[in-house]
Amino acid sequence: MTCSVEGCDREVFNDVIPDSEKCILHCEKPVNSSHYENFPEERNAFYQAILDYVENNGIYSAEGEVESIHFRSIYFPRPDYKGENYLNVLDNIQEIHFDSCHFYSHYLKLKGKLFFQDCKFHDEWNLQNYEILDNVLYQNCIFCKAVSYDAKEEDHGKKLMIKY
Ligand SMILES: [Zn+2]
Repeated sequence: MTCSVEGCDREVFNDVIPDSEKCILHCEKPVNSSHYENFPEERNAFYQAILDYVENNGIYSAEGEVESIHFRSIYFPRPDYKGENYLNVLDNIQEIHFDSCHFYSHYLKLKGKLFFQDCKFHDEWNLQNYEILDNVLYQNCIFCKAVSYDAKEEDHGKKLMIKY
Protein backbone atom coordinates (compact mmCIF):
# COMPACT_ATOMS: atom_id res chain seq x y z
CA MET A 1 0.00 0.00 0.00
CA THR A 2 1.27 3.46 -0.83
CA CYS A 3 1.09 6.66 1.23
CA SER A 4 -2.26 8.46 1.39
CA VAL A 5 -0.65 11.86 0.71
CA GLU A 6 -1.39 12.97 -2.82
CA GLY A 7 1.54 12.59 -5.17
CA CYS A 8 3.53 10.40 -2.78
CA ASP A 9 4.22 6.86 -3.92
CA ARG A 10 6.22 5.70 -0.92
CA GLU A 11 5.19 2.59 0.93
CA VAL A 12 3.13 3.07 4.06
CA PHE A 13 5.28 2.98 7.20
CA ASN A 14 3.23 1.58 10.07
CA ASP A 15 5.84 -0.23 12.15
CA VAL A 16 5.35 2.24 14.98
CA ILE A 17 1.84 3.62 14.48
CA PRO A 18 -0.10 0.50 13.36
CA ASP A 19 -3.03 2.23 11.61
CA SER A 20 -0.95 4.88 9.85
CA GLU A 21 -1.73 5.27 6.15
CA LYS A 22 1.28 7.44 5.50
CA CYS A 23 4.91 6.88 4.63
CA ILE A 24 7.86 7.53 6.92
CA LEU A 25 8.19 11.13 5.68
CA HIS A 26 4.52 12.06 6.01
CA CYS A 27 3.46 10.17 9.14
CA GLU A 28 3.11 11.91 12.48
CA LYS A 29 6.01 11.60 14.88
CA PRO A 30 5.82 11.30 18.66
CA VAL A 31 6.48 14.34 20.81
CA ASN A 32 8.02 12.14 23.51
CA SER A 33 11.79 12.15 23.02
CA SER A 34 12.42 8.80 24.72
CA HIS A 35 10.37 7.14 21.97
CA TYR A 36 13.31 7.33 19.58
CA GLU A 37 15.54 5.33 21.88
CA ASN A 38 13.12 2.44 21.42
CA PHE A 39 12.64 2.65 17.67
CA PRO A 40 16.01 3.09 15.95
CA GLU A 41 14.55 1.56 12.77
CA GLU A 42 12.16 4.48 12.51
CA ARG A 43 14.99 7.01 12.66
CA ASN A 44 16.99 5.08 10.12
CA ALA A 45 14.02 4.79 7.77
CA PHE A 46 13.44 8.55 8.00
CA TYR A 47 17.11 9.27 7.31
CA GLN A 48 17.13 7.02 4.23
CA ALA A 49 13.88 8.54 2.97
CA ILE A 50 15.21 12.10 3.32
CA LEU A 51 18.38 11.14 1.43
CA ASP A 52 16.23 9.66 -1.31
CA TYR A 53 13.85 12.65 -1.38
CA VAL A 54 16.71 15.15 -1.70
CA GLU A 55 18.32 13.09 -4.44
CA ASN A 56 15.09 13.02 -6.44
CA ASN A 57 13.67 16.47 -5.70
CA GLY A 58 16.68 18.72 -5.16
CA ILE A 59 17.62 21.40 -7.68
CA TYR A 60 21.27 20.79 -8.48
CA SER A 61 24.02 23.22 -9.44
CA ALA A 62 26.42 22.52 -12.30
CA GLU A 63 28.89 21.32 -9.66
CA GLY A 64 26.42 18.69 -8.52
CA GLU A 65 25.50 20.32 -5.23
CA VAL A 66 21.92 20.74 -4.06
CA GLU A 67 21.06 24.42 -4.46
CA SER A 68 17.48 24.30 -3.28
CA ILE A 69 14.66 22.06 -2.21
CA HIS A 70 10.99 22.25 -1.31
CA PHE A 71 9.73 20.03 1.52
CA ARG A 72 5.95 19.70 1.68
CA SER A 73 3.91 18.18 4.55
CA ILE A 74 6.89 16.33 5.99
CA TYR A 75 6.96 15.53 9.71
CA PHE A 76 10.54 15.98 10.89
CA PRO A 77 11.31 13.93 14.01
CA ARG A 78 13.80 14.93 16.65
CA PRO A 79 17.25 14.62 15.07
CA ASP A 80 19.32 11.60 16.04
CA TYR A 81 22.60 12.98 17.30
CA LYS A 82 24.03 9.52 17.89
CA GLY A 83 23.30 7.80 14.60
CA GLU A 84 22.52 8.88 11.05
CA ASN A 85 21.32 12.44 11.46
CA TYR A 86 19.13 13.91 8.69
CA LEU A 87 20.37 17.40 9.56
CA ASN A 88 23.69 16.43 7.97
CA VAL A 89 21.79 15.99 4.70
CA LEU A 90 19.89 19.29 5.02
CA ASP A 91 22.96 21.23 6.11
CA ASN A 92 24.54 21.00 2.65
CA ILE A 93 21.54 22.54 0.89
CA GLN A 94 21.77 26.25 0.13
CA GLU A 95 18.05 27.12 0.13
CA ILE A 96 15.28 25.21 1.88
CA HIS A 97 11.56 25.96 1.69
CA PHE A 98 9.63 24.16 4.45
CA ASP A 99 5.98 24.15 3.38
CA SER A 100 3.31 22.77 5.75
CA CYS A 101 5.97 20.81 7.65
CA HIS A 102 5.96 19.72 11.26
CA PHE A 103 8.89 19.85 13.69
CA TYR A 104 9.43 18.06 16.98
CA SER A 105 12.90 19.27 17.91
CA HIS A 106 13.82 22.43 19.81
CA TYR A 107 15.75 23.90 16.93
CA LEU A 108 17.42 23.00 13.65
CA LYS A 109 21.07 23.78 13.22
CA LEU A 110 21.35 24.60 9.53
CA LYS A 111 23.58 26.85 7.43
CA GLY A 112 21.34 27.43 4.41
CA LYS A 113 18.75 30.11 3.69
CA LEU A 114 15.40 29.04 5.10
CA PHE A 115 11.72 29.82 4.74
CA PHE A 116 9.06 28.25 6.98
CA GLN A 117 5.53 28.51 5.59
CA ASP A 118 2.40 27.08 7.28
CA CYS A 119 4.61 25.00 9.58
CA LYS A 120 3.84 23.68 13.02
CA PHE A 121 6.40 23.48 15.83
CA HIS A 122 5.27 20.92 18.37
CA ASP A 123 7.81 21.54 21.10
CA GLU A 124 9.58 24.57 22.51
CA TRP A 125 11.36 26.34 19.71
CA ASN A 126 14.63 28.21 19.89
CA LEU A 127 15.18 30.68 17.09
CA GLN A 128 18.50 30.45 15.37
CA ASN A 129 20.28 33.08 13.36
CA TYR A 130 19.12 31.79 10.01
CA GLU A 131 19.70 33.33 6.66
CA ILE A 132 16.36 34.25 5.14
CA LEU A 133 15.25 33.00 1.76
CA ASP A 134 12.61 35.66 1.08
CA ASN A 135 11.58 38.63 3.19
CA VAL A 136 9.91 36.45 5.78
CA LEU A 137 11.35 33.61 7.82
CA TYR A 138 8.13 32.31 9.40
CA GLN A 139 4.84 32.75 7.57
CA ASN A 140 1.56 31.48 9.06
CA CYS A 141 3.39 29.19 11.47
CA ILE A 142 2.05 27.70 14.68
CA PHE A 143 4.26 27.45 17.75
CA CYS A 144 2.67 25.02 20.21
CA LYS A 145 5.00 25.88 23.08
CA ALA A 146 7.32 28.68 24.11
CA VAL A 147 9.56 30.39 21.61
CA SER A 148 12.94 31.62 22.77
CA TYR A 149 15.74 33.54 21.20
CA ASP A 150 19.33 33.78 22.36
CA ALA A 151 20.37 37.17 21.09
CA LYS A 152 24.00 37.41 20.14
CA GLU A 153 25.68 40.75 19.95
CA GLU A 154 26.05 40.60 16.17
CA ASP A 155 22.28 40.10 15.88
CA HIS A 156 21.34 43.29 17.70
CA GLY A 157 19.26 45.46 15.44
CA LYS A 158 18.13 42.55 13.26
CA LYS A 159 14.44 41.96 12.89
CA LEU A 160 12.69 38.72 13.62
CA MET A 161 10.76 37.85 10.48
CA ILE A 162 7.45 36.40 11.61
CA LYS A 163 4.32 37.13 9.61
CA TYR A 164 0.74 35.96 10.01
ZN1 LIG B 1 4.16 9.94 1.85
